[in-house]
Amino acid sequence: MPSSSSHLDEPMGATLVRSAAPTGRGREDSDMDVHAVETFVAAARVSLPGFELQEMLGRGGMGEVWLARQTSLGRTVAVKLLPPKLAKDPEFVARFEKEATALAALNHPNIVQIIDRGVAGEHYYFVMEFVEGRSLREAISASALSPQQGLKLLLQVARAIECAHDKDIIHRDLKPENILLDGRGNVKVADFGLAGIRQSESRLQLTATAVAMGTLNYMAPEQRRDAKNVDGRADLFSLGVVLYEVLTGELPLGRFKLPSQRVPGLDPRVDLVVERLLETDPEARYAKAGDLCAALEVMISTSSVPGGLAAGLITERQPRSRRRSTSQLARRFRTGWRGMRAGLTVVGAAALIGIVAKLVPVSVHVGKDDNVVIGTQGVKVRTGTKAWPPNTYHEVFTTVNLVESKTPEGESRFEVSFDDKGTEELNLHSGDWKLQEGQLRAWQGGQDAGGRRLVPRAYVAHRYFAADNFDAQVVMDVKPLGNEYPEEPDAQHYGELSFRIKDLQVSAFAIPEVGMRLAWRYFTEDGQEVVGNSAQDTDGLVEDEMPLPTTGPYLVRLKLSPMKGGVVLAEGFLGRQRFARKLLPGLANRVGKVAVGCRNLACTFDDLKVRGQLEARPPRKVASGQEQ
Ligand code: ADP
Ligand code: MG
Repeated sequence: MPSSSSHLDEPMGATLVRSAAPTGRGREDSDMDVHAVETFVAAARVSLPGFELQEMLGRGGMGEVWLARQTSLGRTVAVKLLPPKLAKDPEFVARFEKEATALAALNHPNIVQIIDRGVAGEHYYFVMEFVEGRSLREAISASALSPQQGLKLLLQVARAIECAHDKDIIHRDLKPENILLDGRGNVKVADFGLAGIRQSESRLQLTATAVAMGTLNYMAPEQRRDAKNVDGRADLFSLGVVLYEVLTGELPLGRFKLPSQRVPGLDPRVDLVVERLLETDPEARYAKAGDLCAALEVMISTSSVPGGLAAGLITERQPRSRRRSTSQLARRFRTGWRGMRAGLTVVGAAALIGIVAKLVPVSVHVGKDDNVVIGTQGVKVRTGTKAWPPNTYHEVFTTVNLVESKTPEGESRFEVSFDDKGTEELNLHSGDWKLQEGQLRAWQGGQDAGGRRLVPRAYVAHRYFAADNFDAQVVMDVKPLGNEYPEEPDAQHYGELSFRIKDLQVSAFAIPEVGMRLAWRYFTEDGQEVVGNSAQDTDGLVEDEMPLPTTGPYLVRLKLSPMKGGVVLAEGFLGRQRFARKLLPGLANRVGKVAVGCRNLACTFDDLKVRGQLEARPPRKVASGQEQ
């Protein structure tokens, strides 16, 4: 698994249950738990009068959308079906009907047009125009949009939302999956499934949608707190998150930078729009969608002015990995984060930090080394060819304190003291890894070299643990590599505590300037790939957006425990606080090793403690070619 071409190592990427996912654009909407997958399978055998269902286009928390032929007119349409299981619950039926009613009330070029609705046996359905193209999610994932294109798309979404608000319809679930793009660059807003939800159904709204579908990243603070009483400004907040993501490729989580700090050359006026949309207090946002339209129109129309939006912009987006700014600005604003965060929602607080960041003057330090230049926005960009930290690739031996407990499961505890004296083998890979002063230290940067793939981590070599009984913690610190090393263009930075073996990983990542993140990837026994992370899959609710402490070191903990049916509960903790949890199906009977990782940073690891069930080394055919 070459790390340069795979996202296995990366703390990013959407959750997919791949082979269970439908074809076409719906894949990104398939981030569901095991139960949700079961809920949906039956629909393949549905027959609707007058329509031939052809292929599933996508599915979300509320239904399956199928490509269909309307036999009377011989045209292609899209049919949304409420799965029979959900149709047994009157609340879901009511919600489904409300979606159809809302769509029928809206006649706008940027909103999916409804054609008909009906019930066939136990199947509720409605028929829509088929939008042939892709979702905004796919366009973002493919880095296919220039900022200018992104703004134009957002303007169309804002116009659609203005129309809905004029009819007193609030969308409540705006996110890239629900914004469809046809082949001619037109936006069609879809999924008004939450639009009809009124006060009495707020429970349904939060459980069915936010939890199962992971929409929280886009949700306004007031909607998270009290979904009952939001107005159109909640949609404007969601549009702020979408706009940020369209421009930067990332969500505005943790201490996010303003878009122009991430995308060199971007018109700084965009920052003001984003900030205004992401205001925690709805009063501070635009009052109406029409005001947002006006702001976007001004920027779009004046973007050809030198120094305006188009200045320095790339037309075809560079790959995401190359677009990151090297600015480390946000580090300065860590102090006081915790206090500020209390009482605020995460995204709202993050917006606040963004504002603080903007008000403090940017002072750029030009080092003596001539491989530093000042970018268009005063951002420090290193261009030189200095060497990365050397790759050490070797084993060292440390002492382990092992206690076998007397529980029937034969649980073991061990503590690694990184003291360079014992017999416990540590396998050190890419990076400069050393045992120093009772700590494991790493300096890591650079890409694969000399044909060796990048494996920026250290394994405790010959200990295998059961995946459903594993609890590891380590005292970790992560710091910038320092000026003597060039900044890596792909700019992934993290410290990691991991349960790993070939083709299997569950990791707790500490990502400076972003926060703590839980990520997973593995194949189930029947060959399904399960991959995702807590930033995009919010099953763990708001716990997944925890910033790193102002100063290290701090305790990072990864816990895997058994649930029913071979499911493993994975949890990540920073100190005593849990930052994410995730149910992982089909992981229970696997084994893995403990590893710590370090990427593009100087990391220290201390006091590694593991509790769990030790297992024999897996046979080669299961874990062929060894770990990673
Ligand atoms: P849910 O409420 O279950 O999220 P959506 O209405 O969002 O359902 O539809 C799920 C997915 O189906 C969308 O993300 C999109 O990929 C696809 N889809 C929905 N409506 C259409 C349509 N009219 N034309 C083409 N694809 C569609
Ligand atoms: Mg949807």
